[in-house]
Amino acid sequence: MIQPINTDIATLKRPAMPATKTDQQIVTDLLDTLKAHQDNCVGMAANMIGRPKRIIVYQLGPMQIPMINPVITTQSAPYQTTEGCLSLPGQRPTKRYHNITVRYQTSDWQTKTASFTDFTAQIIQHEIDHCDGILI
Ligand SMILES: [Zn+2]
Repeated sequence: MIQPINTDIATLKRPAMPATKTDQQIVTDLLDTLKAHQDNCVGMAANMIGRPKRIIVYQLGPMQIPMINPVITTQSAPYQTTEGCLSLPGQRPTKRYHNITVRYQTSDWQTKTASFTDFTAQIIQHEIDHCDGILI
C-alpha cells in the first residue's frame, strides 16, 4: 500500500532496527510507495514511510528492487556530488563512492553480496545512510 512520506527530521535521524520476516508488509509498502513517486524519486528507505527498519528499495530502469538489512562491505573511488531527498527540501552536497559492494537479503530472505557502480551505487549509499539515521 502507498504510504505517506515522513518528513520529520527527529525520527529520520534515528538509526533503523534490523528487519525480520515479520516485516514483509513494509517491503511491499516501500515498493508501492517508490513506484508512486518514481517520476521524482529513485530510492526509498523504510523510515521515510515511518517504519524504522533496515529496508531500502531502489529504482533500476522500470523496476523497483528491495534490499533487506543492507550493509556496505567495500567502497572505493570517493567523489563529491549533490543530492535531493523526498523527505528534505532542496539539493545538498554529499560524498559518495563510485564503487560499492553490499551484503543484503532479498525479498525471499536469501543472503546476497553484489557490487554496484555509479548512479545505482549512489542511490544505494543514500538509502543505506537513511537506515543509519544519516541525512544528506
Ligand atoms: Zn533521502
